[in-house]
Amino acid sequence: MTRAEKAARIVRILNQLYPMPPIPLRHDDPFTLLVAVVLSAQTTDRKVNEVSPILFSRAATPQEMAEMEVEEIRDIIRTVGLAPTKSKNLKALSAQLVSEHAGKVPADFEALEALPGVGHKTASVVMAQAFGVPAFPVDTHIHRLAARWSLSNGKSVEQTERDLKRAFDRSMWNDLHLQIIYFGREHCPARGHDLTRCPICSWAASKKRIREEARRPR
Ligand code: SF4
Repeated sequence: MTRAEKAARIVRILNQLYPMPPIPLRHDDPFTLLVAVVLSAQTTDRKVNEVSPILFSRAATPQEMAEMEVEEIRDIIRTVGLAPTKSKNLKALSAQLVSEHAGKVPADFEALEALPGVGHKTASVVMAQAFGVPAFPVDTHIHRLAARWSLSNGKSVEQTERDLKRAFDRSMWNDLHLQIIYFGREHCPARGHDLTRCPICSWAASKKRIREEARRPR
């Protein structure tokens, strides 16, 4: 099977399982999405969705967030983890949005990645989900699955992003990013399970990888 045939079959399966993948983080506009994505580092979307309405009831615009004390932000978000760093970044990025972008989230990769605490993955999520610009944010699920499905060699997140962008049509990137995340969360334990019984790995994974996985402790 060629890589293009494999990609098409994966798309068919994911479209059947997740026809209209919803955006998992609660938000009202690009700014609240950006804040939610920053909060989501190394925690669950559920935790972020519990905390973000409380934060947004206090500050829903860059102006309001920039005026908050770091300690107040930290107290509100403390249950999501990494609260000291995230609270500092949220205040600083809000201040930067006010001073450099007239209080608006820029629809621009470079400008987003110049904000405190915003890396390429966060910028890609905001570009895709707030502005509808095709992007392929690669998180750990996507990185792992692209390697398991032999769509990428899994050497680095950057390489995985390049390989996935080559494998799938641009028009599919934004949905596929969400569909693979949902599939990974619902179906894929990190290690040690039977790949031959999976709707995708059973035919997409290399025989070598299936053998390796079978030998791992369950
Ligand atoms: S075999 Fe496992 S890792 Fe591979 S796609 Fe299926 S559930 Fe996920």
